[in-house]
Amino acid sequence: MKSWITPMQLDPITADAIATPLESHPDQTALVRALNERFAESTPIEILEAALHDIFPKRVALVSSFGAESALLLHLLAEVDRTTPILFLDTGKHFDETLMYRDILAGRFDFTDLRSVEPDMAAIAKHDPDGSLWSTDPDLCCQLRKVDPLERALEPFDAWITGRKRYQSRARAALPVFETLAGRVKVNPLARLDAADIEAAFKQFKLPQHPLVYDGFKSIGCKPCTIRVADGADARSGRWAGLEKTECGIHRN
Ligand code: SF4
Repeated sequence: MKSWITPMQLDPITADAIATPLESHPDQTALVRALNERFAESTPIEILEAALHDIFPKRVALVSSFGAESALLLHLLAEVDRTTPILFLDTGKHFDETLMYRDILAGRFDFTDLRSVEPDMAAIAKHDPDGSLWSTDPDLCCQLRKVDPLERALEPFDAWITGRKRYQSRARAALPVFETLAGRVKVNPLARLDAADIEAAFKQFKLPQHPLVYDGFKSIGCKPCTIRVADGADARSGRWAGLEKTECGIHRN
């Protein structure tokens, strides 16, 4: 049975709650409740250090879109452990600027395990032969190009780290730092940060901006499904604009 925690590094109550291996944990809701209480006042880098070194050593990956605010989480990750696996969902629909930005950040932070996660090309050939599925069935497009590939890529891991924040949209307003999804724990170290915090951190750490930020994009996903947003609007309102859809599905709870 895999031990996935170092109990001596946590208070006894939390250690008791999470000492059971994740795959056989009887109550993952209780687990994330204990983690959220334990790390309620912790900084993003403290949360990252705990997740990477104490709670899920060698069993956690970070998922990055290399979008508008991604450089901050990647900077913090590099401070803690630049060998952490990083998963990038290469949907085949990204802006060229995103791919360039990915390469710039990967070089700057000297990451050693950046993984490009691609769709099953047989499924794409069957369901999206001309590449226009995004316009007729975006949920299926996201399923094929994001959700299914990520599920396969996450198989070796008990937990994954995301860069989501509460301020980004109403749908994310109650985002916890730790949550569960499909038998894994998701860690959101930046959940409590707001736009001013992010802007200040970019200045403090002299982080390069995604090129499209200078062109009015605040949240950057696939090219066909991303538009500029007006000042004062939700950062994510430019994603799937005009549709009910607000998330791609990888964060569906
Ligand atoms: S964001 Fe758009 S193009 Fe990208 S996978 Fe989803 S529907 Fe397809």
